[in-house]
Amino acid sequence: MTLTVLMNAGPWLSVPPPGYGGIENVIATLVPELRRLGVRVVLASVESSTLPVDEKIAVFPDGQFHALQRPYNQVCGVSQAHLSGVVRALHARDDIDLVHDHVEAVGLATLAAMGPDAPPVLHTLHWDLAKHPELYGNLDGGDRVRVNGVSASQLARAPEALRAHSVGHVHLSTPLAVDADRHAPVAKGDHVVILGRINPGKGQDLGARLAQENGFRLVLAGPVGPYHRPADLAAAGDEARQNPDVRFFYEKVAPYVDGDRVRWVGTVAGRERDDLVASARASLFPLRWEEPGGTAVVESLSLGTPVVATARGCLPELIEHGRTGLLTGDEQELGDLVLAAGGLEPAECRREAARRFTPARMAQRYVELYDRVRTGAAKPLQPA
Ligand code: UDP
Repeated sequence: MTLTVLMNAGPWLSVPPPGYGGIENVIATLVPELRRLGVRVVLASVESSTLPVDEKIAVFPDGQFHALQRPYNQVCGVSQAHLSGVVRALHARDDIDLVHDHVEAVGLATLAAMGPDAPPVLHTLHWDLAKHPELYGNLDGGDRVRVNGVSASQLARAPEALRAHSVGHVHLSTPLAVDADRHAPVAKGDHVVILGRINPGKGQDLGARLAQENGFRLVLAGPVGPYHRPADLAAAGDEARQNPDVRFFYEKVAPYVDGDRVRWVGTVAGRERDDLVASARASLFPLRWEEPGGTAVVESLSLGTPVVATARGCLPELIEHGRTGLLTGDEQELGDLVLAAGGLEPAECRREAARRFTPARMAQRYVELYDRVRTGAAKPLQPA
């Protein structure tokens, strides 16, 4: 019997996303592999999504991400409107075997409230679980609603009520991991890269300071708030500083950005991103938060670049210290580790990625979780 899954991607961005879009990228990576495994996928997204699926349902014509900048009373109906569309579809049809939901907070709350006649739900927790303590701390979705994390460390920090609904975790993946072990070696440059949103949790300020103190070249790649190019940020003027990530950039990161030793290049994509990471001697993750999943971490391994990071969040699960990267609990030591990372073997990183972080591997794990959710076998899946 064919399994039909309603994949709820939400109303914020099309799938695949036009640029930066963590969750939508995960869905774009997962769905083709699920379909290869024979799963029928009904995608609940926006009309402009182009991902090949068996069927699509949408309330909005295109991504509503721009609305997130608006005040709460203007934006609070967006995800509810999308979820109402999903609920209407679930009431109207009986072919959905399971809902795989990715919509933060509203998806979980709405689907949990649907009652026993609704299909079983797997809600993937993509974010920091210290958020929404009242929702997570009081969750009661019965046996019908289950959650999964993107790392064990993320779930270990979750409130008890949320953990009671967990069927385990599935690490993130990247298409770059496919056959990563068969790629020709890439010549390494003299730079180190930090790939990610410029944000206090990602710690670009610390990385930039260490680059200046320890004398290594650092490239910061990623958006500052909604600004993807340095020219756009410069043109935005003082108004842009209402965004907390813009303020963080100006106040804590920019003082170290000299355009030579430390550069901010904006968001890089496609081939440019892959070349930048593959030619780096290390990817640096000077984290100040518990990174829940770390797509950029598994991308770095796939591109043969060892990871130097604060030993926080999912990093110790993804990186083996001394083999695929170097981890420390001591912020200041990160600077020395960057210099030591040249001793690690790029081929070892690629092998690890090809073994653990392919989309096929991730899809296989999700199919196992779907089975657990549908049969009520809620005991967490053993770690991969
Ligand atoms: N990314 C990118 N270009 C950039 C910076 C980041 O394409 O300039 C991508 C990166 O390759 C990864 C995603 O954005 O796929 C970030 O995901 P991650 O899980 O690392 O961090 P998040 O932003 O979701 O916390």
